[in-house]
Amino acid sequence: MTPLKIGATIGILGGGQLGRMLGLAGAQLGFDIHIFEPEPDCPAGRVAARCVTAPWDDRAALADFAAQVDVITFEFENVPLESLAFLAALKPLRPGTQSLTLTKDRLIEKQFINSLGIATAPFVAVDGPDDLRPALAALGPNGILKTRQLGYDGKGQMRVTPNADIGGLATLLADQVWIYEGLVDFEREVSVILARSLTGEIVHFDVTENVHQRGILNTSRVPAAISSDLSERAKTHAATLAVQMEHVGVMAVEFFLTRDGSLLVNEIAPRVHNSGHWTQDGCHICQFQQHMRAVAGWPLGDATRHAPAIVMTNLIGEDVNLSSDTLAQEGVFVHLYGKREARAGRKMGHINTVIDTPHK
Ligand code: ATP
Ligand code: MG
Repeated sequence: MTPLKIGATIGILGGGQLGRMLGLAGAQLGFDIHIFEPEPDCPAGRVAARCVTAPWDDRAALADFAAQVDVITFEFENVPLESLAFLAALKPLRPGTQSLTLTKDRLIEKQFINSLGIATAPFVAVDGPDDLRPALAALGPNGILKTRQLGYDGKGQMRVTPNADIGGLATLLADQVWIYEGLVDFEREVSVILARSLTGEIVHFDVTENVHQRGILNTSRVPAAISSDLSERAKTHAATLAVQMEHVGVMAVEFFLTRDGSLLVNEIAPRVHNSGHWTQDGCHICQFQQHMRAVAGWPLGDATRHAPAIVMTNLIGEDVNLSSDTLAQEGVFVHLYGKREARAGRKMGHINTVIDTPHK
């Protein structure tokens, strides 16, 4: 459990924007960063000391990657478990495979959350077309079908409504396993980002309030307009999950707050999270540095918020072409990911806007 030495090397699996921001934070702490990513010319690779471009199942490339780093982490939860297990046998992997096993399949994840007495949206497994009608009969005709694995940013999801063509929908379910979730009539969505160190210390960031559009996060704002009691409950749930997962590093828990005041967990992300990007300009230590500290076996840093209020706005697709007015605006901090192509629905960057007077 000795902390990583100054100037050691941290390997990151996944080369997207989260890997890039983790890499930059790690570099600030003096570490060398190596990235492993199947896609060439990735955003993280261009700010790292080394980038390996190889498929996830290339054992020789994985072994060579492991040989050149002191510890391995990930920015992306869809790294195949076999590759993670292979790497974990060669070098410390933080968080460990357990964090992934419990969260990468929506059915296993929700059963795990419920097993701790923490509520989720109602759900049933849909293993194929024949399970659709019984699922609708059990939970009602308003809901969402989600693939059990590999979904993100609302991808792999189908909204079900009372006048949906059930026969047509059923034919789309054949190649994968799904869950059907009852639609939650939520008042707000909030998330908790926390870090857990190698010694089990937990540090929370302030609860964040999130607004999604078409399944993609649009804005996150802090402070969340919820009572301190609710915010403490959300933090306690997130800590319980982190401890049970034996998680090391940053993780996020997304919640629905229902109109009758219940908190339901939507999902767990066993990594740094888009709804924690405000911490870069709102806190003494941001989520990315906090994660690198945890991975390095260092003590966690001070996660106190110094901004009275802050709003993070995602730049999706062409939003990345910011006007000169926005670029020059007081209190605006720009973060762009260096993606070559501004495709529709693609996260290209974000801006953090610090506000001197907290919103009501
Ligand atoms: P991401 O990876 O961006 O968090 P995802 O693809 O994993 O997204 P979810 O978090 O499951 O998707 O859903 C995205 C958004 O869709 C939620 O934040 C919420 O706004 C809405 N949503 C998802 N499930 C439900 C539900 N059961 N009831 C109401 N709204 C829902
Ligand atoms: Mg989500």
